[in-house]
Parts: sequence; structure tokens; C-alpha cells
Amino acid sequence: MEILEQIPLEFDSISGDTARCTKCNSLTSQIDKSKISDKIPQKVLEFNEKFCRCDKCNQIYWEGTHIKKIQEFVEKVKLGRNRA
Ligand SMILES: [Zn+2]
Repeated sequence: MEILEQIPLEFDSISGDTARCTKCNSLTSQIDKSKISDKIPQKVLEFNEKFCRCDKCNQIYWEGTHIKKIQEFVEKVKLGRNRA
């Protein structure tokens, strides 16, 4: 955390719409969940509305995976900065 507070953060939040694939770094596109319902766990379908798929390797992402973690992380860093 201490090191990260030194890094300038020029974004307020990270949008799932512009997230890149963590496997191949290609752009992801939003995809209707009905099209991928056979590829992901039922619980994930129930609790998430927005899904993205990598254009290149077809890896499927949803907000609950990495996006939310990154957003929480950014918020933590910002909170730490405001206090300092
Ligand atoms: Zn990919």
C-alpha cells in the first residue's frame, strides 16, 4: 500500500466496459448473458448482470471477478491518500 500511494492515480474508477483480458491483454466486449449461460456457473449468472468476453481468446469475465477487486483497491488507495 505504501508504495502504491506514491503512484499517481489519474483515473477515478475502472469501467468494466473497457477492461482488458488478463490473459492476452486484448479488448473485451460486453456479451449478453443468455449467450454464455452454458459456459459459466449458474450462481454467477444469478448474481451478475454484466458480462464481457475477450475478443481474442474468448475468456469470459464478469464484474465480480477482477473489476470489482480493482475498484475496491483503487478506493482504498484514494482513502489512504485523503487521510494523509
Ligand atoms: Zn484474451
